[in-house]
Amino acid sequence: MREFDYIIVGGGCAGLSLAYELEVNEKLKNKTLAIIEPRAEYKKDKTWSFWKVAAHNFDDCVKKNWENFSVNIPKKTNYLECNIYPYQSIDSGLFYEKINSKLKDNNNISFFKDISEINSKNSFVFNSVPSIKKDHRNLWQHFCGVEVESKNDFFDDEIFNLMDFDCDQRESVHFFYTLPYSKTTALIETTWLSKMNDDSQKDYDTQIKDYIENHLNLKDYKIIYKEKGAIPLFYPMIEKAKNKINIGTAGGMTRLSTGYTFLNIQEHSRYIRENIENITHAKKYKIGNKYRFLDEIFLRVLEKHPEKMPEIFFKMFKASPKTVIKFLSNKSNFFEDLSIIFRMPKLTFIKALFY
Ligand SMILES: Cc1cc2nc3c(=O)[nH]c(=O)nc-3n(C[C@H](O)[C@H](O)[C@H](O)COP(=O)(O)OP(=O)(O)OC[C@H]3O[C@@H](n4cnc5c(N)ncnc54)[C@H](O)[C@@H]3O)c2cc1C
Repeated sequence: MREFDYIIVGGGCAGLSLAYELEVNEKLKNKTLAIIEPRAEYKKDKTWSFWKVAAHNFDDCVKKNWENFSVNIPKKTNYLECNIYPYQSIDSGLFYEKINSKLKDNNNISFFKDISEINSKNSFVFNSVPSIKKDHRNLWQHFCGVEVESKNDFFDDEIFNLMDFDCDQRESVHFFYTLPYSKTTALIETTWLSKMNDDSQKDYDTQIKDYIENHLNLKDYKIIYKEKGAIPLFYPMIEKAKNKINIGTAGGMTRLSTGYTFLNIQEHSRYIRENIENITHAKKYKIGNKYRFLDEIFLRVLEKHPEKMPEIFFKMFKASPKTVIKFLSNKSNFFEDLSIIFRMPKLTFIKALFY
């Protein structure tokens, strides 16, 4: 059986980002890499969006950049600017195509459907397949989005809506998210933050139809793409091993209060590339402890008081947009953290320290 220097388990966002980062920085000239990916073909299956607070390799896969956004609760809307850190949406179809066409030029890189097809005993493994134990206490961000095309110009594509809480909450946390790509196309998502212990919130199609037709008042449209997913708002189990690093969702790259993962994956890939020659001894890369701590408290409040969350998110975005964006993207300094923390309902958060 063939042996490889490196194995990437899972050729999704993190696996391919890492392979690309190693390849374009010539770390695979004299090293072999096996990518284990069971999917039969690559096609667009996700849209990755984030504030661009750091450089990444995929500007040419960006579908659209925005410099303005809004957040709203019933009867109140906050309009914000993000020209310093534009919000970007990456088309996963373009991302997969770009990476796969680059990787196929290097004979040192091979794809397999299952790890049992190779000898993995002496390789260094980058694993992106999360180990998630079912637990009814775990919180998830679960969502469904559709890309719609309207017959006539309808959307204002200069501004996106990050969170619209003016919708049915069902004793949980629920908002809609609208990314207008053009005057006639937009991705519209229904998003829930909840424990997902039953399917009662998963009537996504009905929720989206009702929002588009009765809230946005768009009647003449068709659905041209659909995506669905669930992001764990907890860390998957990581089994420690000398010759293995977990990456992506499996490696704790999700910011638990927001679900944002894409840019953290890119930063983790860069860190691995910088340390690849000494990877067995490199320090573990993680999202800063300060954010882990603050997110844990935030999620405790969310769990205990879902009814307070629309107002809490709305208040958070009353801080300067630059500060909130840096905070949500793990780039804030101590004073910026304080300016967010001071906007939170103090007693509720202090009590959450002791739940
Ligand atoms: C629909 C959706 C939209 C999202 N949108 C955003 C966003 O807007 N912004 C953001 O920051 N984050 C977003 N996320 C969160 C996160 O960025 C993505 O989940 C991202 O794809 C995580 O990358 P990953 O490599 O960890 O997982 P994946 O991209 O899911 O890759 C894992 C890969 O492992 C493969 N695999 C599965 N089982 C095995 C096995 N046994 N052996 C080998 N391979 C296996 C899978 O086929 C897959 O290709 C979104 C998530 C989803 C699901």
